[in-house]
Amino acid sequence: MEKRKQIYEGKAKIIFETDQPEYVIQYFKDDATAFNAAKKGVIEQKGIMNNKISTKIFEFLQSQGVETHFVKHLSDREMLIKKVEIVPLEVIIRNKAAGSLCRLLGLPEGRAFETPILEFCYKNDALNDPLVNEYHIRALNFATEKEIAFIKESTFKINDLMRNFFSRLNLELIDFKLEFGRYQGKIILADEISPDTCRLWETGTGKKLDKDRFRHDLGNIEEAYKEVLSRVTS
Ligand code: UDP
Repeated sequence: MEKRKQIYEGKAKIIFETDQPEYVIQYFKDDATAFNAAKKGVIEQKGIMNNKISTKIFEFLQSQGVETHFVKHLSDREMLIKKVEIVPLEVIIRNKAAGSLCRLLGLPEGRAFETPILEFCYKNDALNDPLVNEYHIRALNFATEKEIAFIKESTFKINDLMRNFFSRLNLELIDFKLEFGRYQGKIILADEISPDTCRLWETGTGKKLDKDRFRHDLGNIEEAYKEVLSRVTS
């Protein structure tokens, strides 16, 4: 597999072409952004840790029958993935209140729910990834009715699988964001799953082991990612 030219650079990752049109390389950077890039910084070794953590989670999900873009871990910062057309939605599951939902509804952080909450945001940096519902998605053709149904069903299933996966490591999955892509006529899980995209609280102590340490300057950011990595690879 030969690495070729860069085709896309995002806030935390770069995508490179390969000599095979159906595969691309996802390169993980140490750059971190929060509050829609209003806050920028670097988390040392983050790219290496997120590549490993994502690899473990994708392998776990695939072993449980979830189709993902993951092909293989190539090197410290590189993962081989299937080239998908990203559905322009961020799909969020919330098991407890945190972050933007606390601000939206005036809820205390950590507030429990009767059922998990699924949210869709339109992936558009210039608009700050606004919250949208299924009518917006259909009206603007961000995804078809069938795609939305599949995405919702997979996301709830992934939530159950990931809550169990993390709870065995004494981590509580508070919320997370997924992205999906179109590949050979199917919808598959894409992007990354890491402490950049999940809120993880240590069971018992409630210690935050995710990007909230960067968002809110809580300190020991690298240590938190390292702790998640060590549990995930234990
Ligand atoms: N999230 C993400 N990327 C985004 C927005 C959110 O990965 O662009 C994740 C975030 O890490 C959290 C969940 O989605 O695990 C819910 O995020 P929230 O809307 O609370 O975001 P905040 O406003 O706190 O950044």
